[in-house]
Amino acid sequence: MTPQHQQRQSVDLIVTGAAEVLTCAAGAPDLLGSTSGGVAVDGGRIVAVGDVSGYAAELVVDARGGVVLPGFVDAHTHVVFGGSRAQEYAARVAGLEPPPGAVVGITGTMAATRAAGRDELRKQAAGRLREMVEHGTTTVESKSGYGLDVETEIATLDTNRVLQQQLPVDIVSTFLGAHAFPPGADQAAYVEQVVQLAKRVGAEGLAEFCDVYCDDGYFDLAQTERILRAGLDAGLAPKVHLDAYSHTGAAALAADLRATSVDHLNLTTDAELAQLGQAGVAGVYMPCLDYAVRHPHPLDPRRVLDAGMELALATDICPGCWTTSMQLAIQMACRTGGLSVPQALRAATLGSAVALGRADRVGSLEVGKQADLIVLDVGSPEDVAYRLGRNNVSTVIRRGRVIHEANPAPRPEETR
Ligand SMILES: [Zn+2]
Repeated sequence: MTPQHQQRQSVDLIVTGAAEVLTCAAGAPDLLGSTSGGVAVDGGRIVAVGDVSGYAAELVVDARGGVVLPGFVDAHTHVVFGGSRAQEYAARVAGLEPPPGAVVGITGTMAATRAAGRDELRKQAAGRLREMVEHGTTTVESKSGYGLDVETEIATLDTNRVLQQQLPVDIVSTFLGAHAFPPGADQAAYVEQVVQLAKRVGAEGLAEFCDVYCDDGYFDLAQTERILRAGLDAGLAPKVHLDAYSHTGAAALAADLRATSVDHLNLTTDAELAQLGQAGVAGVYMPCLDYAVRHPHPLDPRRVLDAGMELALATDICPGCWTTSMQLAIQMACRTGGLSVPQALRAATLGSAVALGRADRVGSLEVGKQADLIVLDVGSPEDVAYRLGRNNVSTVIRRGRVIHEANPAPRPEETR
């Protein structure tokens, strides 16, 4: 053996002592790419997965017999908003009408968001994003859509930009000026305003995606197409809130435009899902939203997989579905959606990265990818679906830096 072989390669950080490392790599036959050993990280990137005995680092994270996997990617959120709809939610779960003065619906949140101002918007969203990180999320999509006027839509997207600089989480910004029509608006004039705003958003680099809420009572097929095409012209890739409460026929449009993702899909037909699968469009499943609104037609996510689509998972945190935990989304995806644990974990990592056009950078533990990974203080991947409502995350690493540690991290045997 030459001296070179005896010397271990020095890197920034090593994670060792895992019961299992889930790479979630594309093409892994078990979906999870389960292996043993650890992960070596240098310069913010993964340099080795599995056997890391050839590496040395000053910073060694002991997984203590836990599970290591990619940081969660939350593919659909409305995390920047003002106010709360707790009164509306509490009334509706009890089958009552919200009390007078309560903030109700998208337009209620619109008023609270406009009134909040930039500092307050940023403060409120930052608190939620910190919680998301503590629950293992390292990449978050964040939509505008509660301003519904030029000033507040721009302020929301600018909040995404500022929070990306201030917080240790990757924020993927989406322009959703077409979330709803503001009360009293002339529809044609509002669509024109959204089209003009999409141009500005693209020119100023304030978003990567342009999204439209296509549904009965929201934006119709023709309006959706006009806005998505304007977004494409401005460099914004299309996403669609599709068929959540009515069948719109916009699946064909999304396939035609090669949308990056279609989200909700409650009333989308199997034939349309197959068409979307053919076009390489990812499907985003939001089981917490279906639960929070007690949706009459909750999506069966197995239909999305059967259609050959990449399945993504999201919290859909918004005033009507207030959860910061991708673990809760996984738990619901398994129990209420019928996904297997590997299917749900894969959707929460690589699947969601595909739905954000970032599968080349995040979503799996592979050499060269961004070193976003989490350590769970449980002995098996199944525990994530099984331990309902518990935060199983002990360590969060983003771009090779430890950004969150639950203290003290209990060993798996202590939590049994
Ligand atoms: Zn949404």
